[in-house]
Amino acid sequence: MSLNVEKSKQMLLESQKYLAGGVASTLRASMKPTPLFVESGSGSRVRDVDGNEYIDYLLAYGPLILGHAHPAMAEAMNEATKRGFTYGLQHDGEIKLAKLLTELLPCADKVALSGSGTEAVMLALRLSRAYTGRTKVVRFHGHFHGWSDAIFTSFPSPDMKQSSSARSSLASAPPGTGGQSENSLQDIIMLPWNDIEAFEALIAKEKDSIAAVITEPIMCNNGCIGPKAGYLERIRELTEQSGIVMIMDEVITGFRLGLGGAHGKLGLKPDLVTIGKALGGGFAISGVAGKADIMALIENGTVGHLGTLNGNFAATSAALAVLRELGKDNGSSYSRMEHLFNRLVAGLRELLNKHGIQGLINQAGPVFHFMFTEEKQVEDFDTFNKRDAAKYSRFAELMLEEGVLVRPSGLWYISTVHTEADIETTIQAADRALAKLA
Ligand code: PLP
Repeated sequence: MSLNVEKSKQMLLESQKYLAGGVASTLRASMKPTPLFVESGSGSRVRDVDGNEYIDYLLAYGPLILGHAHPAMAEAMNEATKRGFTYGLQHDGEIKLAKLLTELLPCADKVALSGSGTEAVMLALRLSRAYTGRTKVVRFHGHFHGWSDAIFTSFPSPDMKQSSSARSSLASAPPGTGGQSENSLQDIIMLPWNDIEAFEALIAKEKDSIAAVITEPIMCNNGCIGPKAGYLERIRELTEQSGIVMIMDEVITGFRLGLGGAHGKLGLKPDLVTIGKALGGGFAISGVAGKADIMALIENGTVGHLGTLNGNFAATSAALAVLRELGKDNGSSYSRMEHLFNRLVAGLRELLNKHGIQGLINQAGPVFHFMFTEEKQVEDFDTFNKRDAAKYSRFAELMLEEGVLVRPSGLWYISTVHTEADIETTIQAADRALAKLA
């Protein structure tokens, strides 16, 4: 039985007349059989314009940690927006949120607020360069840090049209998109991740020109690959010794792995972290948090930090509501989400066995990456790239037919409002989808 998404298809055609590409973010164009148009979302479910309902593990690419239209959040936003939406002036919401973030995030003496993860990364890079007086930035193959010219490099992803472009193991960075000057990446040094020898060798040679090292604490964007034992600790040690700013990009992991971010979980103190996605629960807000003497560069005017809607009242109210909800009962929703995902991962692994399909799942608490591969384990980007991305994309399409929405790349998120029943329904759906795939 194939999915009826005729209205979505018609709306895409209509949209394409006016909206470039018919979707508002390039990534969304890759969804098969068609980019879906949504009627509404509620809890763990989203309903498209054709009346199909899906259990949602896409969760808007991460932000919907409380699910869709969470009542506590809706109520908080109802109340808050009676006072207005944005002022271009200061308000108590900014103070409350900034204070709370400094209490929650171990590395945060101070914070700065922006609108998107991309902007947060831009600010963190700028702070690092101003702080060190150096220009080079080290980043890692397979990590994603937003789409600004300063850092967007090509990587193979089934979500992106430019995926054919080479991923080089050299230190050079191919631009991530047409229209991006290669010069914008001349200060970027690419390294393989989880390879401490490569990092040590670079530091030995070039430490005096390096302003920052930026890393996701877990390579969520490509394989949900965790750091090898001692890897991030050694980066911390070497960056500290060399006066290099260590930036942890927690746009995915922040408030998803725990209220103190991944760095809180790992017991590490980077100099700066970037946060976004789950912080706003679906509203546009992001931030940079970090050491007082680096953040002081904003205070003394050395570093410009701008944005018409930065710290707007609606977004800060949303973030406060999200953090309030996540903090309830000593943050018990984290262990609940993890428990549900453990069950789902176990169920999916059993199904791989049952159907004789080779694949594996890398899980990091309430987020995991499901891939079809002959590899026994995937602990680096090169091995991850051996997966069968086309087969997974087909699986995602089959899951949609079964009433389950997953990202075509393989990354799954869960919300605080998913239920045991959702998980069991999902396992049954996967059983049927894998049977068709086998
Ligand atoms: N950093 C990481 C780790 C991300 O995963 C993303 C987005 O997926 C970004 C930064 C960019 O965030 P945004 O899409 O809000 O600009």
